[in-house]
Amino acid sequence: MGYLAPAGTPVTLRDLAQGAVRALRSPEVSETLATRLRELVSASNAWPMSSGRAAMTLILKSMQAAAREPGRLEVVIPAYTCYSVPAAIERAGLRPRLCDIDPHTLSIDAERLRNTDFSQVLAVVSANLYGMPNDLAAIEAVCRERGVFFLDDAAQALGASVADRAAGTFGDAGIYSFDKGKVISTIQGGAIVARNGALIPRIADRVGALPASGRAERLANILKLGVYSVFLRPALYPLIRMLPFTGLGHTPYETRYPVTTLARFQSAVALRLLARLDELSCVRRRNAESLRAALTPLPAIETFRSVPNAVAAWTRYPIRVRDPAGRHKLLAALNRAGIGATASYPLCLADLPEVRARLAPDHTDCPEARRIAATIVTLPTHAYCPPDLATRVGTVVRECAC
Ligand SMILES: *Cc1c(COP(=O)(O)O)cnc(C)c1O
Repeated sequence: MGYLAPAGTPVTLRDLAQGAVRALRSPEVSETLATRLRELVSASNAWPMSSGRAAMTLILKSMQAAAREPGRLEVVIPAYTCYSVPAAIERAGLRPRLCDIDPHTLSIDAERLRNTDFSQVLAVVSANLYGMPNDLAAIEAVCRERGVFFLDDAAQALGASVADRAAGTFGDAGIYSFDKGKVISTIQGGAIVARNGALIPRIADRVGALPASGRAERLANILKLGVYSVFLRPALYPLIRMLPFTGLGHTPYETRYPVTTLARFQSAVALRLLARLDELSCVRRRNAESLRAALTPLPAIETFRSVPNAVAAWTRYPIRVRDPAGRHKLLAALNRAGIGATASYPLCLADLPEVRARLAPDHTDCPEARRIAATIVTLPTHAYCPPDLATRVGTVVRECAC
């Protein structure tokens, strides 16, 4: 029955054909996408960008330009998050400072954050991994107390919320990503949203000065979207997994990426996917709920807790194995059963050489993040998952005795 990709969004060939027609006919398609995103999350401004990391770089540079004390060069980030986050910080000419996470929610631990040395800090960045909202109101409160910016990284959490406020709209500015494993996918892509009055004109000026995406980049993304559209299906995904050059499942630390606006074709495809966002999110939530119900009772597994009043987007469903030695066995067994389970980011950021080299000498250890990196497993939640996914995962976990 093929192989379920770890994460993804079904994109139809019709989405691509109609996207292409719209991109050719309507030069204002990117403005339409900006308006749609703004309405969707109730942000005052939105700008489609070439990627989530490009969005983050541009926001951080704008924050630096808007800061009252220009010497502040540090950005506090959770010690367990996507490697693109510290890479975007380096690209903006800034340095990471790590804060350990709450191992039950994966959120930056607000108490630890409060005790961070803020003397060189420009901004704090959230993570909202797997579409699970962080303790965003608490992080926002600490940032306000300390007079630093808050960048709400909702790269994986478009459509998630805390107390009816969208993830990505806490703090001063936020990002979304439209990369391959995110809530919607245009292969690469993302967006900035902003609320802070002082920041908005600076972001607008910088976005206005950006080049359009390059021709080769645009063409490559069109072709890749075609491949993605066809090969995400479980029956065909095994073929794409065999190709080494796709970089699937690998998150590099890469600081050389284009910082441009989003191409018209990708904006048009994003608009079509956003029109189905409720349906896509509904399926992911249903699958996550079945996985939670099937796996929470199993002694070998721990599930994560949501922060109060949170609605998650569940781009994946994360669990932890109690015994780190059993993880490899469980991943192998799930993969043999055709389920795209992953070990997510293999290292916490304190152990990633590129990040380690840039940490301040007084950096504190991050034991919780390190334990998460050693025990986490993510499961697929997307629309190609069969109705009996949770039962199948439960059976594999029991048989594997990990
Ligand atoms: C994917 C991701 C990013 C970067 O987004 P890209 O579009 O891949 O550049 C940033 N933060 C988190 C938490 C992510 O998952």
